[in-house]
Amino acid sequence: MSIQFLHKFTNNLPADEISENYTRQVPKAAFSFVTPRIPGQPKLIHSSKEVQQLLGFSDEFIQSDTFLKLVSGAEIISNSKPFAMNYAGHQFGNWAGQLGDGRAIVLGEIEHNNQTFTLQLKGAGATPYSRRADGLAVLRSSIREHLCSEAMFHLGVPTTRSLSLILTGDEVLRDVMYNGNPAMEKGAIVCRVAPSFIRFGSFELFSSQNDIENLKLLADYTISNYYSEIQENGKEKYIAFFKQVAENTRKMIVHWQRVGFVHGVMNTDNMSIHGITIDYGPYGWLEGFDPNWTPNTTDAEGRRYRFGNQANIALWNLYQLANALYPLIEEAEPLETILNNFAKQYDADFYEMMLKKIGITSKNEQTEQLIQQLLHNLEQTETDFTIFFRNLNLIKKTDSVEECLEKISFSFYFPLEVRGLIEETWKFWFENYLNVLKEETLSDEDRKTLINSVNPKYVLRNYMAQMAIELADKEDYSLVDELYNLVLNPYNEQPEFEKWYNKRPDWAREKIGSSMLSCSS
Ligand code: AMP
Ligand code: MG
Ligand code: MG
Repeated sequence: MSIQFLHKFTNNLPADEISENYTRQVPKAAFSFVTPRIPGQPKLIHSSKEVQQLLGFSDEFIQSDTFLKLVSGAEIISNSKPFAMNYAGHQFGNWAGQLGDGRAIVLGEIEHNNQTFTLQLKGAGATPYSRRADGLAVLRSSIREHLCSEAMFHLGVPTTRSLSLILTGDEVLRDVMYNGNPAMEKGAIVCRVAPSFIRFGSFELFSSQNDIENLKLLADYTISNYYSEIQENGKEKYIAFFKQVAENTRKMIVHWQRVGFVHGVMNTDNMSIHGITIDYGPYGWLEGFDPNWTPNTTDAEGRRYRFGNQANIALWNLYQLANALYPLIEEAEPLETILNNFAKQYDADFYEMMLKKIGITSKNEQTEQLIQQLLHNLEQTETDFTIFFRNLNLIKKTDSVEECLEKISFSFYFPLEVRGLIEETWKFWFENYLNVLKEETLSDEDRKTLINSVNPKYVLRNYMAQMAIELADKEDYSLVDELYNLVLNPYNEQPEFEKWYNKRPDWAREKIGSSMLSCSS
């Protein structure tokens, strides 16, 4: 089989022609040509059947040495010119200048079924943008990215995909300590797939350098290749572009809130221009419902990237993008209108999404209150986010309040009786809920279908990925396979996987090895 890399990117945008990868500032270029590092002894651990099919790769090809060489960076396909993208960004609210990409190398673009896909290796060695780091990735973070990308996709959340997970056969020095010493870890590479890996920070880069010519080139390139539905000309074109990016971003955040996903590092360099989830680092899934929770241990104090703040941060990031695009528009008002609408529309979308989660179709003051009360209750009791909403599918209009509580009790981390008052507030909520249900036209059966379609039964809980990582470290990849198969159908009942429909076990209550969830592993 032959693979043809299109390289539309390199044909359209300014390149840094010095193809050496020493660390440096790279002005006036959207990317630098680089050569992936030759891995010591690459080994394929897992590949995603679905992504394989998306790209038109045969089973035979996936099992071939050629494939292993491709996705490990061992060999460059002829006619391709790998590159690392240049971007800047705001990290934790502060301008950070040129940031990357320090460890992701684009192999090229592939066309299949009239769709174009960009393939990118994460962890294939240093680039001009690596700053003080090594350009490598370790097994644990690569497993997390590979599985979570696919889990998110099958949950219906816009995301980059992951084609493959390989071990490089090389050791990498990281911050995990054993007996007081930093330990060597196994190097790994994930092959990510997306329309492109252009970020908010890609635009901030040129704008910050006052390089309006290249800013315009990048915007025109992005619009003509990925937002080709935009018909406007002149500054109207860039306004329409910004509007669409804001919309895509908003929709993505609503999905995150729906499934209980916390990104953990919503810096502007980690915001895709496509509005898809990108850069799986210290992400996490809500277990006990807590809007203040963040999985990112480096953000423990400020909690900037907490669950309940993701929409605000998305908006903050969109302000940065608006600033970056401003030189192409030179008018603040249309941008401000879009930004103001974001908050309004997000509130409406969020509320609508929450109503679906509880299986209610009517929108009025009473149902709005029901959501408010619910969020309050969930916060008061340590309630498993996934199990609570999924178990609502058991409730019948004719149930008593006690029966409701019984059906939902599995989602509580502590028995309710222990917390007297809270039991009363839950009874009050279910009373109101049942009243609303009785006025609804949906039958119990139809409501169950609605609830099951938006509330996954299975998500990739932090402890599950951690178990897969621990086994994989001992060269047992069975749990990587099992979790991959599990996340393919998150909304279906899967009796063979029932054991994964469970609250976080006690051993995982305390932070799972904090460094596991830091940014740059
Ligand atoms: P992140 O916070 O993970 O989005 O990373 C911010 C920037 O640091 C990105 O450009 C990354 O490519 C870069 N980076 C993170 N980890 C490494 C690493 N191990 N080696 C080189 N660059 C890295
Ligand atoms: Mg990043
Ligand atoms: Mg990262």
